[in-house]
Amino acid sequence: MVNWITVFTFLSMFCVPLYLGYMALVACSIGLGDVAALNKAQSAMRNQLDSVNYCVERIQRAGLFCERFRKFMNYESKIEKARGTVQVPKSQSVLEIKDMSFRYDGAKKDTLKHINMKIQAGQKVAFVGENGAGKSTFIKLLMRLYDVTEGSICYGGHDIREYSTEEYRDIFGSVFQDYQIYAASVQENVMMQNVAAPGQGLVEAALEQSGFSERLNTLPNGLLTSLTREFAEDGVQLSGGEAQKVAIARLFAKKERMHIAILDEPSSALDPKAEYELNQNILNRAEDATVIFISHRLSTTRDADCIYMFENGEIIEQGTHQELMEKNGQYAEMFCCQAKYYQQNQEIIC
Ligand code: ADP
Repeated sequence: MVNWITVFTFLSMFCVPLYLGYMALVACSIGLGDVAALNKAQSAMRNQLDSVNYCVERIQRAGLFCERFRKFMNYESKIEKARGTVQVPKSQSVLEIKDMSFRYDGAKKDTLKHINMKIQAGQKVAFVGENGAGKSTFIKLLMRLYDVTEGSICYGGHDIREYSTEEYRDIFGSVFQDYQIYAASVQENVMMQNVAAPGQGLVEAALEQSGFSERLNTLPNGLLTSLTREFAEDGVQLSGGEAQKVAIARLFAKKERMHIAILDEPSSALDPKAEYELNQNILNRAEDATVIFISHRLSTTRDADCIYMFENGEIIEQGTHQELMEKNGQYAEMFCCQAKYYQQNQEIIC
């Protein structure tokens, strides 16, 4: 569409001075004083029109944002509202994935293809594989952030679509790579709710288990210290590693209700040794809960009851560390590659 204000601005910049010059010097119908006055007037008018032009552009751009905002506000997620027809099991149960495939909306191919898996209650399993293999997508499906395209995910003998989404999600304790620290107190960040008085010692114990106690002792108001400076000038800004420990403490604070713990590379900001120790700590303390963890560092996954190796949305190998090393396939190759790196850096000797 032609922007007439731009056309007018262009014409007035070149044509009007030329015309005024012609009238004064060739036609001699106006004086030089008139030329100066008229030129100044048209220049002022052009500036005003430029401002109008700028405003119109901004209104058009804001309109685009409004449209997106309106769409977002009108969005109704069927998954979030699902009320369910059966009760979520009260204790840890078997998780079974049957010939499950998944494709993101608008994608040309499936991100996950024909996955079959059975995770016994209380098992500690690890998902490994290169970036983009589909591990995080699998976790999202498990927590019912999306519904599967084909096949099913069953927990306690029922398809998870039969449960109330809210109740079903409550059985998970999770820490993701892109965890958030909120502008709230330390204890609210751990409990993930507005807490006047959390259970006696619950938050301290959770923070101790995640390795944050030493830092907690240095905070000016202990558990009530505000994190981030967004709303509190005296708020504390934690380092990446410290923030991760607070996020991991959420898992320990939820222990009573947690059937399945999900750790999607939560300790990537820690050094390999600290990460190894933290994972051991999580495995020991998760007790009866099923633990699923994703890590690129294979030294942290070797103690899992079962390791699943993903590639291009498929499971290409599965078994214990020992079994996969004996198989001498992709996992063994990846493991040896990393072991060599760590040996060179003298961090972990495999
Ligand atoms: P991993 O966790 O193994 O690194 P992901 O599950 O994050 O892998 O990604 C698997 C594939 O799915 C990638 O190709 C990624 O680009 C694609 N993907 C991830 N999230 C989305 C999304 N929201 N929409 C479309 N494609 C996505």
